[in-house]
Amino acid sequence: MSDLASHIAARIGAKNVISDAEQLKPHLNEWRGRYSGRTPFAAYPGTTEEVADIVKLCVAAGAKITPQGGNTGLVGAQIPDGEVLISLRRMNRIREIDAANDSLIAEAGVVLSNVQNAAAESNRLFPLSLAAEHSATIGGLVSTNAGGVHVLRYGMMRDLVLGIEAVLPDGRTFSGLKGLRKDNTGYDLKQLFIGAEGTLGIVTAACLKLYPQPAAREVALLAVPSADHALALLHRMKAATGAVSAFEVMNRLSVEVTVKNVPAVRDPLGGAGALAVLVEFEAAHADGLRNAIESALTAAIEAGEAETALIAENAGQARVFWALRESISAGHKPEGAQVSHDISVPVSATPSFLARANAAMEKRCPDVRIVAFGHMGDGNFHYTVMQPEGADPAAFPGPDLTQLVYETATALGGSISAEHGIGVARRGDLARFKDRESLTLMRAVKRAIDPSNVMNPRVLFE
Ligand SMILES: Cc1cc2nc3c(=O)[nH]c(=O)nc-3n(C[C@H](O)[C@H](O)[C@H](O)COP(=O)(O)OP(=O)(O)OC[C@H]3O[C@@H](n4cnc5c(N)ncnc54)[C@H](O)[C@@H]3O)c2cc1C
Repeated sequence: MSDLASHIAARIGAKNVISDAEQLKPHLNEWRGRYSGRTPFAAYPGTTEEVADIVKLCVAAGAKITPQGGNTGLVGAQIPDGEVLISLRRMNRIREIDAANDSLIAEAGVVLSNVQNAAAESNRLFPLSLAAEHSATIGGLVSTNAGGVHVLRYGMMRDLVLGIEAVLPDGRTFSGLKGLRKDNTGYDLKQLFIGAEGTLGIVTAACLKLYPQPAAREVALLAVPSADHALALLHRMKAATGAVSAFEVMNRLSVEVTVKNVPAVRDPLGGAGALAVLVEFEAAHADGLRNAIESALTAAIEAGEAETALIAENAGQARVFWALRESISAGHKPEGAQVSHDISVPVSATPSFLARANAAMEKRCPDVRIVAFGHMGDGNFHYTVMQPEGADPAAFPGPDLTQLVYETATALGGSISAEHGIGVARRGDLARFKDRESLTLMRAVKRAIDPSNVMNPRVLFE
């Protein structure tokens, strides 16, 4: 390994190869402390050619590779366990903005908020938005097919990528960095790298779709009596305004523990509603948007779909509404033993999922506490099951509860991972819950592109 490190250092410069334990620490520990790893060294290439040469040198030395971006992934896939770590952080240039094509080419190490800012400077919008946007990189977001709060209107990363450049596991470069919206020339190969979690190659750049900047944005927070009412409300607001860009749901307990545990977060609804629902709207014209929202909310209250509705009067109030939603992950962490899930079901099945999963949890572990929140407009819940208050954490049947959550989601045609991915955390669950033919095809793709299992060898598959 020290020979390999020296050869790589000779190619990319000694200062760009690190083996000092202190300097490696931030790469080897996940921010929540759930995963820690080891690596002989980390290499920081600055160009696609350097990435390709590093990969060739690793292959020649029989070394395996873990690509890493911002280290914000939630399923442990970016933490090496003996593999060479290739950090893309130095590849942080925006290569091109083609505003007339509504596209932007960013290198893999560009942080998401920098892409958003660059798009805004060209009077365009890059709509991907999530709480890790000041750390997560384009390479990581592509490789996890990230979602976030605006999927309802703009889709996931998969829908926002026009082209990809990637270094393959043998060091060749896939040059698919086109800015085309239409290209029917056989298999859409770029899609293979999106959501592959670094198992098929190293993404070095992506051509991303841009949109017009919305001229008007409004945010409403509603107290809603049930998930069935929330579903009716979603469709009412979509039909009445044509402008819904986010539809986020928080169950009452999720709001209560967040207000209790996160300083400065408050509940503007004052405790009303079995569910708090945050709806964001975007439109090209301010004219008429506010009126359309107010009329639709009045009708929703008359129909019993909402008990109370608040519309943010200014950007500060909108931030207060969003702060509640964005603090929920932190809000339930101090509440003892818990298991978290990131499931999706068809949007129409969201009320059934909550009813069935809640009943299954209560049956297996009476008095269990459930925090259910997330992107209901996409059929996606972050569903955390917490130990009964005051109970012995050691007696908490977490694995059994996870099994029941996944059985409930898949029985409704859902998925065990809506947006966070499989990584090393959910490999066993993927083997259990993904259908046999899909798994066989996935393994065939991996073997075809990475026959020696060089790239992220412990990820996705057991
Ligand atoms: C607070 C917080 C909120 C979040 N909210 C959301 C959310 O709302 N929606 C959502 O979808 N996700 C969310 N996430 C997870 C988010 O998707 C990931 O954090 C992000 O996509 C990973 O980007 P990263 O640069 O940090 O990649 P890393 O964490 O470094 O890596 C993630 C994966 O991508 C691979 N990888 C990284 N770079 C490359 C590359 N250049 N080429 C090939 N493979 C690569 C890694 O090997 C690993 O498999 C959240 C995370 C946090 C911490």
